[in-house]
Amino acid sequence: MEAPAAIGYRMKAWQSNGYDGVDGLSLNVVRVPPILRPWDVLVKVQAASVNPIDTAVINGYGGKVLNIMRTLGRAEQGIFDINQIEFPLTVGRDFSGEVVALGKAVKNVAVGDQVWGVVSPQRQGSHAEYVVAAASNVCSRPANITSEEAASIPYAGLTAWSTVVVSGLITEYTAPRTRVLLLGASGGVGSFMCQMLSVWGAQVVAVCSEDASDLVTSLGAVEVLDYRNPETKDLLIADQGFDVVINAAGPDDLDYLQALRPWMGSSYITLSPPLLRNTDELGILPGFIKSLKQVACQNVSSLSEGRAYKWAFYMPNPFALKEISNMMSKNKIRPVIDKVFPFEAAPDAYTHVINGHARGKTVISAQ
Ligand code: NDP
Repeated sequence: MEAPAAIGYRMKAWQSNGYDGVDGLSLNVVRVPPILRPWDVLVKVQAASVNPIDTAVINGYGGKVLNIMRTLGRAEQGIFDINQIEFPLTVGRDFSGEVVALGKAVKNVAVGDQVWGVVSPQRQGSHAEYVVAAASNVCSRPANITSEEAASIPYAGLTAWSTVVVSGLITEYTAPRTRVLLLGASGGVGSFMCQMLSVWGAQVVAVCSEDASDLVTSLGAVEVLDYRNPETKDLLIADQGFDVVINAAGPDDLDYLQALRPWMGSSYITLSPPLLRNTDELGILPGFIKSLKQVACQNVSSLSEGRAYKWAFYMPNPFALKEISNMMSKNKIRPVIDKVFPFEAAPDAYTHVINGHARGKTVISAQ
């Protein structure tokens, strides 16, 4: 192919010029992002996933924190970095694709490699024909899955890893002694987490809609309950036998703290911490202080009953990305794809994610 990294080459990118949601998205022809840092790679995107965070960011979610991160990123760079600007904004946090150019310091991938990876949230995203990402967040993708399947994994998989391993302190060695209640097991993150925990030997009791029950059972859950059944919650709370409750269903539900085994180091983990909402509303410092106060107050009351309350966040993690690649190469975890949209129909993919009821991941594909 031609040298896409050369100045002047153009690409198509889905971009937003304000926080106007899906209606504000337009398919623009823009400069292919340049490699400005020696440890960056340029990837021709084959497919990328659409996550709830993308649909939130185009409405301004997290804007204040992301702008601080962009400013710090540009300061570190010392020159104007077009990959770290607010507008026009290209979202999209993960991708599969082919490496087409490298910074001088990159050793772990080569031009022509079929890769997958994630882009830092302050940088221009992957819903474009090309993306620049840090080489540490990019690695060879499993060869036994398609590019669309590969694109469905990195962001959800790394979020699952950070929730289970970093917040939940569950590893493949401790998992066989761990009973987990997983709320939202049918979604993009939940469907990955359910498989990862089950493969490691944890006993996963999953909660989802009834129509997702067969899918979630096939992902390894030992028991699947319908959240629309009015008895489900009472039943789970009365159980009081879970070591970890993971809420990957959306809004926090503190009632489920009561489902935990008390005084056994058990914890409730939410994937919807209020941190970015608070900083959006109040500004960086007051938002951080309010969030810290919230998590501390919640823990004062829950720890007095022998249960911890924790937040979980997506975290880039090169080691975890390789481990995930290994598990997928050995068919221990399979991609769960809800729907694939062509690149030109990206706004329909965003609307699909906004409408909810995900059964795995939504992907946009350039193929
Ligand atoms: P999805 O939209 O893909 O999945 C959510 C799933 O939850 C759907 O399958 C939905 O199915 C199900 N669900 C909805 N309500 C309930 C309920 N009451 N009980 C059980 N299941 C329910 O989202 P993701 O998997 O991508 O993300 C999960 C959550 O984690 C989202 O809120 C997301 O914003 C958050 N997240 C946070 C991150 C962080 O860094 N903190 C990173 C990534 C995600 P149905 O509606 O049909 O029942």
